[in-house]
Amino acid sequence: MNTVLHIPHSSRYIPATLRWRYVVSSEELATELVRMTDWYTDELFMNPQSVAVVFPFSRLVVDVERFFDDRKEPMARKGMGWSYLRTSQGTPLTKALDPETQRYLATVYWDHHKRLTELVSSGTVVLDCHSFPSKPLPCDLDQTSARPDICIGTDPVHTPQGLREITVDFFQKKGLVVDVDKPYSGTLVPFSVYRKDPTVKSIMVEVNRSLYVEEATGKKSENFSKIRKIVGEFVEILQALGPNSL
Ligand SMILES: [Zn+2]
Repeated sequence: MNTVLHIPHSSRYIPATLRWRYVVSSEELATELVRMTDWYTDELFMNPQSVAVVFPFSRLVVDVERFFDDRKEPMARKGMGWSYLRTSQGTPLTKALDPETQRYLATVYWDHHKRLTELVSSGTVVLDCHSFPSKPLPCDLDQTSARPDICIGTDPVHTPQGLREITVDFFQKKGLVVDVDKPYSGTLVPFSVYRKDPTVKSIMVEVNRSLYVEEATGKKSENFSKIRKIVGEFVEILQALGPNSL
């Protein structure tokens, strides 16, 4: 199956030329990066055969997983739409965008989506690759404290039943606790086909960070390679599926 990995949140890179935008100290910025980065999701999901679109900047620069139109983006109400104004704690993060910076960041956002769009065609499966903190952040819409090991995100148009079943079964058979669309829901496809072309398929896999990193620092834990092996096996299964098997 033609599989494209979408990895939007693995980078911690904030260009020095944008540092002036952030109203927090360097220490606070580093802490926010620890909380918000989907640590090592590029390493967890990618293999030598992968076709992947990895966003090269931190989500604190631009969040490409969010809708560009703040009216469609529920997190925009928390100051965390495509360009964050607030931290995960609800405190101020950046200055309001001036027109020139807005234009630059919009280009960064749309360049990423253009790269994804170019790689996706009819029959492609987009695997939306993320990880999440074991305890809800103040910004999270779902504040339930019990969280699964793996959260699967689906879309009513782009996630066929078969894809959902393969994914849930795989991780459950590895002895992991799986929830669907809880605590995070949805999955990404290019905007050009979103809710229009069901032959483009997608599923989101979010790994609980406590399984593979020390969450206070972002350092790999001793279980990192075990989890990478499991996630890697899942990606290989998707890649090996026949073109009409879903
Ligand atoms: Zn993420």
